[in-house]
Amino acid sequence: MKEHQARKRFGQNFLQDKSIINDIVRAVRPEANDVVIEIGPGLAAITAPLAAAVKNLHVIEIDRDIVTYLKTLPFADRLHIHEGDVLKFDFNSIPGRKKIVGNLPYNISTPLLFRFGEYVDDIIDMHFMLQKEVVERMVARPKTADYGRLSVMLQYFFDMESLIDVPPQSFKPAPKVDSAVIRMIPVPGRIGLADDFNHFAALVKQAFQQRRKTIHNNLKDMARDEALLSVGINPAARPEQIEPELYVALSNYLLHNND
Ligand code: SAM
Repeated sequence: MKEHQARKRFGQNFLQDKSIINDIVRAVRPEANDVVIEIGPGLAAITAPLAAAVKNLHVIEIDRDIVTYLKTLPFADRLHIHEGDVLKFDFNSIPGRKKIVGNLPYNISTPLLFRFGEYVDDIIDMHFMLQKEVVERMVARPKTADYGRLSVMLQYFFDMESLIDVPPQSFKPAPKVDSAVIRMIPVPGRIGLADDFNHFAALVKQAFQQRRKTIHNNLKDMARDEALLSVGINPAARPEQIEPELYVALSNYLLHNND
């Protein structure tokens, strides 16, 4: 096809760097019988080596012109192409336990990451290229500037590790920010299980509403100091000082001790 003009609205920054592409595929460790789903294949930088390695490669792509291009590739007969918005995609429509991969469009990465919790039971692992700043927030531990709602909510579901740093010049067009590849592996229950996930999610959202305020202040409409103390939270602590486990414990305590 004539050269594809990268579309900003779809977050298109195409990987060019062969050694980074190899590193990503090596990290994914695709095996012939794996069910692999790639989000946003674009011009097939990662798709081509994945298609060479597995029998079942699904790709989800929103850009119609790219879908047309993908259908012309020599390995197109081995791709299951799903045209549409990944934010609306039902991952359960693909049977089996899955490995999910993607150099994600950065503008939708946070809402997308929040959706994967729904599917943890059927995910083997996920490898994503993201803005480095987002990766740092995902893996951040308490008492650091990067620790926040994203860290707690994703650490509830996943063990996460930042694997590869990727500079802007590895892409065309080059993004303005540094990127990194993260590995996410489901670890259900590692920080405890919330009896009501939606309550836990609402609590964490409220807890980090104002980072500079104490947890007592942020949660004054949801939890009294006795509840905080009962699960081992100092009411004078700030939200970023509190371990993820304690948010799960507090949510469960509030559900069962509603006075
Ligand atoms: N994987 C390619 C690579 O590494 O060069 C392309 C990566 S590019 C950062 C993101 C890709 O996701 C583009 O192909 C873009 O069209 C696609 N995309 C953007 N928004 C999407 C959405 N909501 N659903 C599915 N694909 C989307």
